Amino acid sequence: MFNKASLQRSANLTIKAKSFFDYKTEYYSQLKHSSKELLLNYFGATENDWESWTWQLKNRITNAEQLKELFDIPQYEYEQIRKVGNKFRFAITPYYLSLIKSFNTNDPVYLQSIPQSEELYDIGEADPMNELNNNPAGAITRRYPDRVIVNVTNSCAAFCRHCQRRRNIGEFDNHKSASCLEESYEYIKKHPEIRDVLITGGDSLTLSDSAIDDILFKLRSIKTVEIIRIGTRTPVTMPQRITDRLINIFKKHSPIYVNTQFNHPVEITTESARACLNLADSGVVLGNQMVFLKDVNANYYNLQLLNQLLLKIKVRPYYIFHPKKVIGTHHFSISIEEGIKIYEQLRGNTSGLAIPTYILNADQGLGKIVLNKEILQLADVKGFITLKTWEGNKTTINIRSIR
Ligand SMILES: *Cc1c(COP(=O)(O)O)cnc(C)c1O
Ligand code: SF4
Repeated sequence: MFNKASLQRSANLTIKAKSFFDYKTEYYSQLKHSSKELLLNYFGATENDWESWTWQLKNRITNAEQLKELFDIPQYEYEQIRKVGNKFRFAITPYYLSLIKSFNTNDPVYLQSIPQSEELYDIGEADPMNELNNNPAGAITRRYPDRVIVNVTNSCAAFCRHCQRRRNIGEFDNHKSASCLEESYEYIKKHPEIRDVLITGGDSLTLSDSAIDDILFKLRSIKTVEIIRIGTRTPVTMPQRITDRLINIFKKHSPIYVNTQFNHPVEITTESARACLNLADSGVVLGNQMVFLKDVNANYYNLQLLNQLLLKIKVRPYYIFHPKKVIGTHHFSISIEEGIKIYEQLRGNTSGLAIPTYILNADQGLGKIVLNKEILQLADVKGFITLKTWEGNKTTINIRSIR
């Protein structure tokens, strides 16, 4: 016989698990079909077209008129989309748009991809991470001793409304020139202490297979480069990009780490799951870098469900980023206090594997700082606290203010 205390404890844990379990059951029961059929009809396209990433890129939805033809959009929203879209361009792949089932301004995919009037508020900075002053050569951003970022393009499959690099998006797609890339490789070669290179953008996988192969080849020829990371949101916004050909390129240049950005459970679909599983099964190590976004995912059950579902598709939750104070993204902000309170509930309630690290990017490009519940206890009555960066630099934040 099992002892009474164990049985009682077990019964209590089942009760503790119940409300999330109910939420998850409800979530699955409400999963509806996507609007893929609607989009295929609209473009007069075939399944084969849909599966092709170049078709997805070429047929991105980029203006309010197209949206109005597809969805039943009220006049007011239509005008807003037009006005804001003219100032900050937008582009959504048919695939990512198909995750929006009907016109709904609370839909997490809608909020991340369709222009909103709040973007015109002039609060925040263009470059709070001071990337412009951490650029020693070519397309390199260097903020740490042993690793660098190479920004290979400003182009993305879909432009996220919350993007921290909005200042680079501009009006035109612009892949970095060959000479700029050469200068970056030269810098890495001359600095043998750099062992980890992050290829990002924009979205590095908007480049062609041959361009990607070339970059990986050049970096692999530098003996001191140990690992290569690729930053891309294509598994989420254009999973068709993860072709067998691309996977074979990654295999050739192994070890490759891919970090992507799933922000909400609805983004985990048959297509995105297949893309991630194919990558993982060919030896690519996958991580997720979520961004906390008000009304999209700053909600505990959503956060837990997202991270659990990621593990099922072999993506390890890596970071949660606290939203930065970038101009045009203020409406996505939450306070650090709010973020920590949501985040800390993960511990204990779910697998340690499903718990990423919560990160604040310190002002002026001082680097990443880990956020946790100790910070809540140490802040003063007004919410101020001085934190130290990895180098011991001090930075003062207010945990209650919306940045
Ligand atoms: C975030 C970041 C990295 C990578 O940091 P990890 O903590 O190793 O993931 C590297 N360079 C820059 C400039 C960064 O901002
Ligand atoms: S994919 Fe990344 S760089 Fe591109 S718009 Fe989205 S957040 Fe910005």
